[in-house]
Amino acid sequence: MTEIPHWLDKQAQLHPNAHAIESPDEVLTFRQLQELSQQIAGGLYKLGVQEGDHIAILSGNHINFAAFIHAASYIGAIVVCLNTRLTEKELQFQLRDAKVSQCFADNDNYMKGARALKEMSDAISITNVDEIPRVEKETYEQFKEFIDMDEIFTMMYTSGTTGNPKAVMHTYGNHWFSAVASSLNLGLDTNDKWLACLPLFHVGGFSLLIKNVVYGMPIVLLERFDLHLVHKQIKNNQVTLISIVTVMLQRMLKEKPLNYPSSFRGALLGGGPVPKTLLHEADSENLPVFQSYGLTETSSQIATLSPSDSFRKLGSAGKALGPATLKVFKDGTPAPPNVVGEIHVKGPMVAKGYFGHPSVNDDYFATGDLGYLDEEGFLFVVDRVKDMLISGGENVYPAEIESVLTQIKGVQEAGVTGTAHKEWGEVPIAFIVKSNLDEVTKEQVTAFCQNRLASFKVPHTIHFVSELPRNASNKLVRRKLKDLIDGGGYE
Ligand code: ATP
Repeated sequence: MTEIPHWLDKQAQLHPNAHAIESPDEVLTFRQLQELSQQIAGGLYKLGVQEGDHIAILSGNHINFAAFIHAASYIGAIVVCLNTRLTEKELQFQLRDAKVSQCFADNDNYMKGARALKEMSDAISITNVDEIPRVEKETYEQFKEFIDMDEIFTMMYTSGTTGNPKAVMHTYGNHWFSAVASSLNLGLDTNDKWLACLPLFHVGGFSLLIKNVVYGMPIVLLERFDLHLVHKQIKNNQVTLISIVTVMLQRMLKEKPLNYPSSFRGALLGGGPVPKTLLHEADSENLPVFQSYGLTETSSQIATLSPSDSFRKLGSAGKALGPATLKVFKDGTPAPPNVVGEIHVKGPMVAKGYFGHPSVNDDYFATGDLGYLDEEGFLFVVDRVKDMLISGGENVYPAEIESVLTQIKGVQEAGVTGTAHKEWGEVPIAFIVKSNLDEVTKEQVTAFCQNRLASFKVPHTIHFVSELPRNASNKLVRRKLKDLIDGGGYE
């Protein structure tokens, strides 16, 4: 068992008056964040929460989200992070599956949570997170002074694009090593201030709450990605780093020239691939982009590409972070350079397993993603194992076809999947959402693909649809694409 002093107590002791969290309407120092978290911990005790309980948070990005997770850590309760975009049915599944005893929701999500719970026979209570009683210091004695790295701290559901969502269990150690590994890679500057605009209930956003208390670094918390506020924070509030996904980078680059100050160190970009044109645009605006690869299971990014390599290694997600290793296996053995196989990862930030499922990862964790390492060991992510199809003996990666389709003028979004075929076994078919700006025909799409893709990759049929199936994390769910054919909504 490895124990460290409670990370928030430590920062409150080292830098009591330094800013911990800034939001547009409130600033908390580390001492204030500690006080608030401990008062909420006292309140949770009063509500009957005990060590080892699973308590859920259904909330947007608010300071009380941060205080809540720290409060849980003082008690040793496990925090189940719920996506606020889930439907009531999905919430019910996760609350039950994660064996939650009490649920806490912010104002915007309280009613939805209450409705979901009303239909359940399980005795789960719901409390407004802002109404947890604040209990004063004298009355609590049992707060944890030490963090046990092996204890489970959080449970977060994978987004379920490839199957039923499962709750990934993260230990304190997983979160700690993720934060430390990131700083060993990106460096840590005494002036760093990180902008948090990704949802806190996903690991990419959540990890900033941990960096906050592990580094003693201020974070700026925004409710959502608001372009105006993001620009303002970078230009006028000395923000040095920001975590984003591709669509946010696209939006940032719409307001050129950016004129970001030289103190801005860059954007950590995760969650999916980045189009090359966007990287060039960012470069011409002096916006350094750190491309990364990670999963909920790796507690945030596990590989990162530095901006200096971004053009030499276009499309790569970089190399494994210091304490992590990354291998590509094909047919059970390490694949040679440039050969596609399944990406496996190992490191102290990799979660031990899923709640309620037997899997325990003591060695390499199979990510379910396909990729290859080039001669220099740079990782290229190709697609998900489950989404790959085999056509006439050839491997076909839907992500590759989608990236070609989205280059077509008139195509706003595209999704590709496979369908059975008498001669070839399977063939790719495409679903396209047209843009409002330009017209495009099926013949034009096919002609464009024929110029850029081998014949077995050219979609056999093209369906124009009004929207693509996406989950609560806004990720494309390829296995549901074919429902669009049966369910209508296409031409
Ligand atoms: P589920 O596992 O339930 O299908 P999910 O994979 O969407 O859900 P997340 O942990 O949110 O769960 O996302 C991780 C996935 O995002 C990776 O497995 C990978 O497929 C994709 N991804 C992450 N980084 C990159 C990247 N740089 N390039 C391509 N894909 C990426």
